[in-house]
Amino acid sequence: MQALIVTVAIVLALAAAMLAPGWRLRRALRRPMPQQHVDILRRNIPVYARLQAPLQEQLRQRVQQFLFQKKFVGCDGLVVDDEMRLTIAGQACLLLLNRPSRVYPGLDTVLVYPSAFLVPRNQVDEAGVVTETRQDLLGESWGDGRVVLSWDHVRRGASDWTDGQNVVLHEFAHQLDSESGSNNGAPYLGSPARYREWAQVLSQDFASLRSDAYYQQHSVLDHYGATSPAEFFAVATETFYEKPWQLAERHPALFAEFEKYYRVDPREWQDAPPAVPEQEAGYGQWR
Ligand SMILES: [Zn+2]
Repeated sequence: MQALIVTVAIVLALAAAMLAPGWRLRRALRRPMPQQHVDILRRNIPVYARLQAPLQEQLRQRVQQFLFQKKFVGCDGLVVDDEMRLTIAGQACLLLLNRPSRVYPGLDTVLVYPSAFLVPRNQVDEAGVVTETRQDLLGESWGDGRVVLSWDHVRRGASDWTDGQNVVLHEFAHQLDSESGSNNGAPYLGSPARYREWAQVLSQDFASLRSDAYYQQHSVLDHYGATSPAEFFAVATETFYEKPWQLAERHPALFAEFEKYYRVDPREWQDAPPAVPEQEAGYGQWR
């Protein structure tokens, strides 16, 4: 009898340990987002005001889940406050609207530096000599559950929603890419037919961007996307959200693929731009 009681107690304790996080999350999501948090989204992410009410509600829910589940760590003496948390989570969760995916299940921690940060990079030549260089970074996405961001560039990326440059969208696109098991420019798409279609369209546009970059021809996609298929996906994500009209006009098949994947049409959130020649823009830095 005593053994039975002990067994039942252990089973109940295990069940409680398994169910508690889900219960706490549901309880957190039942509470409406505090008004000061909504005000930050509205103030720092201009596109928020352009979303239809149901999408705003979805975004607030996902942001609340993001804030509940992810740790934020300030680096180089930065103290991470609500403004930083909301501005980062708000943009990251834009990529999840209308999609059944969970909120970056592989992500655990967001590290935030005050500005561009230096990281050592080792390069090994054929003779086995390791040369250490240090590069300025605006952001990094790791497959082990970390995203690293420069707050300066997060703020800049959020404030101008039409320049095609957004470090949060870029790094979180890398996170989505890695959910498929490898960072190769193809996020989880479901059926083999979707992967075939995706590969066909993206490899064509990737090749044309590599050629544009090589011959220094202007492209609506930042030349940094020519670095690799993974960078192409991240750069094209920035362009899809920030320059949707131009992307749809110049790369209609690519735009259609992204519309199917992200399940939104960002043209609904911004007016068509005036037909003026664009300046080439680029970070000129690694991310
Ligand atoms: Zn990148």
